[in-house]
Amino acid sequence: MPDKEEKARRRQIQKELQEKAQIEFEKSLPVSREIFQSLFDFLDEELEKNGCDDHLTLTKKFLAKNQIEDADEVENWLKENGGFCDCEVLYNVEELFED
Ligand SMILES: [Zn+2]
Repeated sequence: MPDKEEKARRRQIQKELQEKAQIEFEKSLPVSREIFQSLFDFLDEELEKNGCDDHLTLTKKFLAKNQIEDADEVENWLKENGGFCDCEVLYNVEELFED
């Protein structure tokens, strides 16, 4: 059994790793957290009405509507994080933003 000190040390390392991962994640974002948040809200509403067409149709609509310049970059980022269509953006990507 690890003693108290060892446990505290492990906890500290764990905490540092999590913080580092969080910083890396923030750095990797092509647009701000706020924009992602409103994208998720938008998808939430629209998918309820229309369902998913297995493409990033609604995501693209959102990016165009909000005049996001790096739309391609955002799309690539979403795909890298498991969002290959609108509903996957909600299922796979939104949770990455929850603390
Ligand atoms: Zn889908």
